[in-house]
Amino acid sequence: MTIRMYYHSSYVTEWETKITNSLKRDDGWYVQLEQSAFYPHGGGQPCDTGTINGIPVLDVISEEDEVLHKVERLPEGIAASCKIDWERRFDHMQQHSGQHLLSAVCLRLFDALTLSFHLGMESATIDVDKPELTLEQLSHLEREVNKTIYDNHPISSYMVSEEEASRLPLAKPPKVSGNVRIVEIESVEYNACGGTHVSSTGGIGMIKLLRTEKMKGNTRISFKCGSRALMEFNDCMGILGTLSSKFNTGKEDIVARIEKWEQEQKQLQTELAALKEQNDSFIARDLLDRPGDGLIAHQFENKPVKDLQSLAIKLTTLTNDPVLLADLADSKLVLAHSGPYERSCGAFFKEHLGSYGGKGGGSSTLAQAGFGSLNEALAFYEFVKTNFR
Ligand SMILES: [Zn+2]
Repeated sequence: MTIRMYYHSSYVTEWETKITNSLKRDDGWYVQLEQSAFYPHGGGQPCDTGTINGIPVLDVISEEDEVLHKVERLPEGIAASCKIDWERRFDHMQQHSGQHLLSAVCLRLFDALTLSFHLGMESATIDVDKPELTLEQLSHLEREVNKTIYDNHPISSYMVSEEEASRLPLAKPPKVSGNVRIVEIESVEYNACGGTHVSSTGGIGMIKLLRTEKMKGNTRISFKCGSRALMEFNDCMGILGTLSSKFNTGKEDIVARIEKWEQEQKQLQTELAALKEQNDSFIARDLLDRPGDGLIAHQFENKPVKDLQSLAIKLTTLTNDPVLLADLADSKLVLAHSGPYERSCGAFFKEHLGSYGGKGGGSSTLAQAGFGSLNEALAFYEFVKTNFR
């Protein structure tokens, strides 16, 4: 049976002990220790990493009374000098204690019970049994949790019997039978939990709620505590700084500048559409003036397929001949006719594209196709010119 040191103190980072067993499994080597402060996966909290005799600990799992440490390779001898990756562990402690506080305040303020907790690499989430929380409620919640952090309530943990646990006002009944580990935030709550926690709420640093999502009638709240919240703030400041320099203005004026920029974009799009329309009319007239032999065909150096389509449609309103247009830059073709023409553009493309390595299709009056290479597109272009009659 491994003595789980993290049950008694979350602040043990280095210790000496003995290797009691080592075993080979399909995915690698595992060792058992007489005493371990390595936290195994559980209760929504990921495991610790660190070293045993300088050898990296890759994974830690709990199996009945034992803690199994997956190691990169087997240590020699039985003496074990162990060290925990403290940055990772302390981050988990901040998020996990922050979660207890968030859940407790959420229950007190809105009668919203926490159904589950997940601690991910990026952010942590809880699911609460309320279909929705308003922005005002979330802001109130965030303020209250931060206030409880500043009040610096001591956090302690201890074992009680099942019967003693039943007399405590636990937020949720314990999932284990027999002795139950209680994590108490003084004057805030009692919680049955096996996780690692900071010694008082001040250690959480701060909490920042990030977003909510609806989850099958419940609400998922994403949040960051402590150093993660600071890093989030730094990331946001970095983005704001980039936007400030791009728009050449202070952060307080960025939104107004973006709104102005959007207005200008809309204006430009309108002007561009009008100019394209005008340009299409010139091109259409020019193409119709050329001597044709029953099919109007033209290649453009660089004209997006959407523009080819609108030009082709315009042309078909002016002539009964089919229209074939190509964009050389993207190896795309468009074929159209005005309707009375018997053959279907889409069916013709579907029937013959395969032989030219092309993909596409369309309706009886308008079809488009793309090709892997310009040569294939040009070969098909010539094929259509000769055969679409
Ligand atoms: Zn917990």
